[in-house]
Amino acid sequence: MSDAEDKTLCALQEEGYIETDTEDFIKLIRPARHFCMNCGRSAVGANNLCNPEELE
Ligand SMILES: [Zn+2]
Repeated sequence: MSDAEDKTLCALQEEGYIETDTEDFIKLIRPARHFCMNCGRSAVGANNLCNPEELE
């Protein structure tokens, strides 16, 4: 699955890409500081996400 870069994050989230390919999803949203494992949203602050995962 190398077509991820051509798809919107919205479409990828709908396919469950965040759960199946978490590492690749993170590459697409960097330099975000945090992202949500539930919604796929990214944010500067973890308090803005319902299931935040911190990125180093
Ligand atoms: Zn969320």
